[in-house]
Amino acid sequence: MKYTCPHCGEKAFTPLQKALAGSYRSMGKPCPHCGKRCCNGMASIYFDSIVSVIAFVLIMIIYFKFDASQKMQSSILITAIIGISIVLSFVFRMFFGKLVEPIRRMQ
Ligand SMILES: [Zn+2]
Repeated sequence: MKYTCPHCGEKAFTPLQKALAGSYRSMGKPCPHCGKRCCNGMASIYFDSIVSVIAFVLIMIIYFKFDASQKMQSSILITAIIGISIVLSFVFRMFFGKLVEPIRRMQ
């Protein structure tokens, strides 16, 4: 399975390359076929913001539910939540949304 480049229309990006191309606001990655830069579209930005809101709410719940004697467990849980949200947005970019031209273009 490969993703189509918005510039040359070739199926040039593997899911991993697409995930590494970053978001709409990043510089993107050059297409292996035509060399022009591509990045993930708005869908990944929406998904990222949903994931970070959920992660924030969970962290707040943990922060207020656990008392000082459970500091160790709560910090492990918070680290796990941050880790999971990073993995989720990476997986989303690998399999969902399409590639677009980045806003910031190299001159
Ligand atoms: Zn291309």
